[in-house]
Amino acid sequence: MIVDVDGVISDASSRQPLAKARRWDEFFAGCPDDPPLEATVALVSSLVADLTVVLLTARPWHLLNDTLVWLKMHEVRWDLLILRPPNSGGSSRAYKATEVINLRHHGFDLLYALEDDPRNVEMYAESDVPCVYVYSGYYDR
Ligand SMILES: [Mg+2]
Repeated sequence: MIVDVDGVISDASSRQPLAKARRWDEFFAGCPDDPPLEATVALVSSLVADLTVVLLTARPWHLLNDTLVWLKMHEVRWDLLILRPPNSGGSSRAYKATEVINLRHHGFDLLYALEDDPRNVEMYAESDVPCVYVYSGYYDR
């Protein structure tokens, strides 16, 4: 199972004005202080124990330590964490589509995904990964 981070298990709503202004350094600097989205964290925890939980986020690689600390602090269940590698160009959608291919290549049977970005929801559908859309409001116009 694939789970997105921002807008799915982590509440980044207070940082959305920075995202809309594309002030990415400031946007990402705030992520350690985000509260968890308790309902989704509980949902992931309630899944059967032998299901592998893959956190697939477009957060950049330099946020690895901040993300690990946050996951531990909020007792999030996870097995594999994938952040965007350095010098990764292209869209979040293209990055996640590539990671879907990589996960399958490594033998993962992708049962479903939890995602709040409509573009990624569409990508999962096109990639034959059943996806549950989580409404965050971040992509409202
Ligand atoms: Mg998200």
